[in-house]
Amino acid sequence: MNYSYWELKEWFTNIDFTIVGSGIVGLSCALELKKKHPKAKILILEKGMLPQGASTKNAGFACFGSLSELIDDLDSHTEQEVFNLVEKRWKGLQLLRKNLGDKEIDFQQNKGFELCDDQDFFSACISKKEKINQLLRPIFKQDVFSISENTFGFQKVHQQYIVNNFEGQIDTGKMAFELLNKVQKLGVKILNNISVEEFVKDQNKIHIKTSRLDFYTKKIFIATNGFASKLLNENVQPARAQVLITKPIKNLHIRGTFHLEKGYYYFRNIEDRVLFGGGRNLDFKTEETTAFGQTEIIQNELEKILKETILPNINFEIDHKWSGIMGVGNQKKAIVKELSENVFCGVRLGGMGIAIGSLVGKELADLLN
Ligand SMILES: Cc1cc2nc3c(=O)[nH]c(=O)nc-3n(C[C@H](O)[C@H](O)[C@H](O)COP(=O)(O)OP(=O)(O)OC[C@H]3O[C@@H](n4cnc5c(N)ncnc54)[C@H](O)[C@@H]3O)c2cc1C
Repeated sequence: MNYSYWELKEWFTNIDFTIVGSGIVGLSCALELKKKHPKAKILILEKGMLPQGASTKNAGFACFGSLSELIDDLDSHTEQEVFNLVEKRWKGLQLLRKNLGDKEIDFQQNKGFELCDDQDFFSACISKKEKINQLLRPIFKQDVFSISENTFGFQKVHQQYIVNNFEGQIDTGKMAFELLNKVQKLGVKILNNISVEEFVKDQNKIHIKTSRLDFYTKKIFIATNGFASKLLNENVQPARAQVLITKPIKNLHIRGTFHLEKGYYYFRNIEDRVLFGGGRNLDFKTEETTAFGQTEIIQNELEKILKETILPNINFEIDHKWSGIMGVGNQKKAIVKELSENVFCGVRLGGMGIAIGSLVGKELADLLN
């Protein structure tokens, strides 16, 4: 260890709040803490060179639930619970947009489209459309779901889509950059390439042990989502999601965000490229991992669907592939709680972190009061 007096004093002494993880939740938590405690010394520790979980890897859907998903939710939740879930996601999206600005994150409300495998599934969803529209009317004041024809020319799917008129898309990279920028401008310190390995209560402080050095903080906020089980004993499992993007496609006609097979597959345009991901349902066991990577079974299926369903008769090339790690569990609800004195966590965001990440971060910070 070769840290100077200055380094130790400036970065690792008298820390009020240490946040572990610089994803949407960790950064939003920092924003809120700084708002409420402007003089507090706040340090964020991030194990990656960049945030390295889901917040910089995701598909950028500003979504709050497709029709089939909400119908499924009604099987296991009351109407009030489903209403609350959607309201929270919608409010979370407004908070993200307010915090960062639509232009800054390239928010576009191009609508969301659910593609159905067959007539039966389509009809089953449509039979509940009115009920769900009624349920959500107090939030949106208009019908959320409607029907449209297959104007994008997809094949091997039912020839009408279910449209979510309020769904949007963002530029994930811009969102993460803006959030980092905003937090740093407020004087919050962010250190990268440093992993928290353990924390131990030591009288009225928390002793944090990292891959680089040990130090003390007054309070610790854990926002490590899919990696939570390393530090916490909560019901959160990692879930890897694989994604690919095409090279630019001339005159690409697809605009919007699209859900296929009950959301197990998702795609969207980014300018004139198609981003496509999913397929975890083909091999849940292997995808329950914190290791980044691709597998043949999922990549083959992604390429097949891209070729046969999404871009039939169109020449395209795949430009790049990557993966990200989500945190999922036996319930859709995020875990936001005080674990013990001075120890707090906000984890298990599932596939809705863009919608709920800002709110979960705020709720995490609010646990202090
Ligand atoms: C491929 C993919 C597509 C997705 N698409 C969408 C979408 O379209 N719309 C949507 O709403 N959501 C989507 N999601 C989900 C969304 O990205 C997540 O819900 C959200 O980013 C979670 O944010 P977070 O801050 O909780 O976690 P993360 O962004 O994972 O942040 C946790 C951070 O903690 C760090 N960390 C972990 N352990 C440690 C440690 N011990 N020490 C220090 N740092 C640590 C990690 O490196 C990571 O940066 C997608 C996710 C993936 C993977």
